[in-house]
Amino acid sequence: MGQTDVELNTLTDVTFDSGRLLHAYLVTGPSGPRRDAFTDRLAAALVCSGSGEVPCGQCPDCRKAFRGVHPDIIRRGRPEDKSVFPVELIREICADSAVMPNEAGRKVYILSDGERMNAAAQNALLKTLEEPPVHCAFLLPVEDPSVFLPTVRSRCAQLRVPDEPAFDAQALADADRFLDLLASDPVRAAAFLSGMDTKKESREAFFRFLSAAAERAPTRLAEGRLSPGLWARLDRALDQADQYRVYNLNAGHIVGMLAACLTAPAGKL
Ligand SMILES: [Zn+2]
Repeated sequence: MGQTDVELNTLTDVTFDSGRLLHAYLVTGPSGPRRDAFTDRLAAALVCSGSGEVPCGQCPDCRKAFRGVHPDIIRRGRPEDKSVFPVELIREICADSAVMPNEAGRKVYILSDGERMNAAAQNALLKTLEEPPVHCAFLLPVEDPSVFLPTVRSRCAQLRVPDEPAFDAQALADADRFLDLLASDPVRAAAFLSGMDTKKESREAFFRFLSAAAERAPTRLAEGRLSPGLWARLDRALDQADQYRVYNLNAGHIVGMLAACLTAPAGKL
């Protein structure tokens, strides 16, 4: 497996083609909610039983993944009382990876504290990375990928989580207000959108607000402050808004589309 270095512009760029997902990824970027949200999204994509672009956000596997209760997403890290990631734990993980998944098509191991994996631990993991069971995937979130041996790195695709873009205070405040409203009452969130200034000269500010909302939403989802159902609607609506943006459509039209997406009865979607 060759190294694939993908840099993402926003977290919502992250949709995957289920047929092209790999067995091992280095998820690189500063530790924190953005990297966690990205890692969680990739794990959901790997267990998603929807089709097309994944994670679909709606199948039973995605719902469990986003609630943090999927039995086939397994998180392991350095125990609190140890200074390094124990090699015995790596061996346990590798042995467990040979066992078939409980529910999903894949078992996903999220191994944190890569910085604390010494050469012995990495070599123990390498054997499994070289010949991973077909039903397994390993995600290694890490700040600096060079902590891994070249042999380990060469077995992993690398996905670099982007730094937080510099949103102005207004865009962030509007995004937070909008997401708060959305979580409690989508109709009020739609009304909030309709009240926004979308005149031609304000178009860029409006899109900064949308980008800020798209950046904030995955963290809220991961924290349980946005339901998977609403997130799926928002995600789809923001995707569509991005396409409209490419076509340079009037922002007022985009507001109408967003409001309709967020408030339509479920059967109409
Ligand atoms: Zn799914």
